[in-house]
Amino acid sequence: MSGTWSAPGRVNIIGEHVDYAEGLCLPFAIAERTVVQVSRRDDERLHLSSDFEQGTFDGELSEIGPGTPKGWAGYVAGVLWALRAAGHRVGGIDLHVTASVPLGAGLSSSAALECATAIAVDELFELHLPRTELAAACVRAENEVVGAATGGMDQAVSLLATAGHALLIDTRSGDTRQVPFAPAEAGLAVLVIDTKVRHALADGQYGKRRAAVEEAVARIGSLRDADLAAVATLPPQIRPRARHVVTEIARVQEAVALLEAGRLAEIGPLLDASHASLAGDFEVSSPELDLAVETARVAGALGARMVGGGFGGSAIALTPLDRVDAVSHAVRAAFAASGLAEPDVRIAEPSAGAARDQ
Ligand code: ADP
Ligand code: MG
Repeated sequence: MSGTWSAPGRVNIIGEHVDYAEGLCLPFAIAERTVVQVSRRDDERLHLSSDFEQGTFDGELSEIGPGTPKGWAGYVAGVLWALRAAGHRVGGIDLHVTASVPLGAGLSSSAALECATAIAVDELFELHLPRTELAAACVRAENEVVGAATGGMDQAVSLLATAGHALLIDTRSGDTRQVPFAPAEAGLAVLVIDTKVRHALADGQYGKRRAAVEEAVARIGSLRDADLAAVATLPPQIRPRARHVVTEIARVQEAVALLEAGRLAEIGPLLDASHASLAGDFEVSSPELDLAVETARVAGALGARMVGGGFGGSAIALTPLDRVDAVSHAVRAAFAASGLAEPDVRIAEPSAGAARDQ
């Protein structure tokens, strides 16, 4: 038994740095997909290879565990490990990755690889699991086998997305809701600008932001329920961090209301406010992200913000279709003028979630 399965990467419209604070986020799946060809084996062996990474993995299911296998194969093997740990009957596979979401560009190629693997294994071993359960296995694979912190947004959207929609994820209840999001129909595009900059301080700073948010929660309770009056009672060093979380959750709710009312073009100012909050209150932007966002706005974007953890990575810009070339050109020119490497600019089209291809 064999076949081809694929799963998409994602872009988060709004709701950044709130997933560890019981917040809301609003990602959509993109057209870029990771494709895996998988055959079920009769034994307990794994043979894993990829057109996108060096090295193959050839081993037994019983060898998989935290830290093993190392490198990219951990994302695939980790999914089988997590499904087995949850009590499901999974045997060996041969898996080859033939297409991919761009790696390390902030589009979540890691979740795409996990989710493509998960739906393949679900079908080949006739598990018939709900997608939420597959998403949980993918999160465990990344957290425990690969050892990378991930909150679950990426896996949820890669598995649950539908074309023409964003996915509202409530990280407190785990509930999700499809929200209409079709920029092209509104004469718009979401541009993703990969700055190609990755700052080394990102990991340590991420931990500090989480710690500040946790301290705020310890003092005033869940930031999901907090208002700005409660935030104002916090010590000055954590007050702006909490203010970001509280205002960002409100912005997600406003964005959803606009999208559900068919007023997509009006979310621009919310993107701008999100960026200002991430840069000013949460202090996770970088000069390159600020340059991308500023330049995109001046060249005609309706709104723009950094996305992801920050300190480099990507920004998004909601742009009228007739300004896409102007914005792309302006951002490239601004980066060249600042002596920076050429950024990668692409249009992100809200697309369907993981599926069998052949
Ligand atoms: P992102 O998820 O933002 O793209 P990550 O660092 O979380 O960045 O994940 C990238 C890693 O995932 C790669 O370094 C590689 O180990 C693994 N990976 C992703 N896609 C593939 C692929 N198509 N083939 C092999 N490994 C992949
Ligand atoms: Mg990732």
